[in-house]
Amino acid sequence: MIGEFDIIARYFTRNSGDQDVVIGVGDDAAVLKIDGLMAVTVDTLVAGVHFPDGMAAQHLGYRLMAVNLSDLAAMGAQPRWCTLALTLPSAEEAWLEGFSRGLFELAERYAVSLVGGDLTRGPLTATLQLMGRVEQGRALTRSGGNVGDDVYVTGTLGDSSAGIALITERVAAPGGSAVAALQERFYRPVPRVGAGLALRGLASAAIDISDGLLADLGHICEMSGCGAVVDVERVPLSAELLSLFPPQDALAHALGGGDDYELCFTAPPSQAEAIEAALETSGTLVRRVGQLVPGQSVMCRRDGELYAPAAHGYRHF
Ligand code: ADP
Ligand code: MG
Repeated sequence: MIGEFDIIARYFTRNSGDQDVVIGVGDDAAVLKIDGLMAVTVDTLVAGVHFPDGMAAQHLGYRLMAVNLSDLAAMGAQPRWCTLALTLPSAEEAWLEGFSRGLFELAERYAVSLVGGDLTRGPLTATLQLMGRVEQGRALTRSGGNVGDDVYVTGTLGDSSAGIALITERVAAPGGSAVAALQERFYRPVPRVGAGLALRGLASAAIDISDGLLADLGHICEMSGCGAVVDVERVPLSAELLSLFPPQDALAHALGGGDDYELCFTAPPSQAEAIEAALETSGTLVRRVGQLVPGQSVMCRRDGELYAPAAHGYRHF
């Protein structure tokens, strides 16, 4: 069986040509050249909790990188370097090959260098720490929203939540391309890195949607000291989601389902045109879905009437 150091050498050592990596994989610690401010995030994926047992290794590697990139996107940070802590029940080369392929697919797309990590034996768990650059005074935060700001989301919501329901067969899957598209949204979320960078200086607050729109917008509200109203008929739903689920269920996935990794952000109405222009340049669909209001709760409105949605965001504890 392949040994620890061969695994690291074969699957996790790649020269990215990054001049700012002074020492990468192989020494006791990495040494990085930084000039300015750094944003740091870490996320862990646990088998059976964050992904179904038996999920393809390639999807896991991709997803681990995607969820961390999404966190930096929500900060308006430029991703640069990462470290990887991997706990495996056994060293299967086919698994390692798939995992590293998925991970490096995104790492290379966003010019992220893997500079170190750790490898241990145990129940399957993967942790990635991602570091990126932020410009002085230009990081997007959860706390900058103000009453009267518009609330926006990127992309379409609910696809990933519906996708995982179809994968785990909590709902009967009819098969076909719409099913595949929703499952793809779960396995291969697209982090909104370009959009996050484009929103610097335009958005007042931002968060990525990992736990569901209402839950994550709730975090902006909490940190910004205000409430929000979401006009549910404005929430963007994909054609695939609407083709497979009754409108009520589609909306419940969009409002309460997690794992979309779209951005939710706020901005004063005066920025509306600049935001559309900036996100069009980065090729991102954007929709205004509501407004920050006085108070502290997130409310939903349909056809002007307050409305109580069915679902809630995911919570571990
Ligand atoms: P130490 O015992 O000093 O912590 P390790 O034996 O854990 O060192 O790791 C040896 C080198 O390989 C270190 O540079 C470490 O950062 C790197 N490394 C270990 N595991 C991984 C991994 N999964 N991905 C990338 N680099 C790794
Ligand atoms: Mg170590």
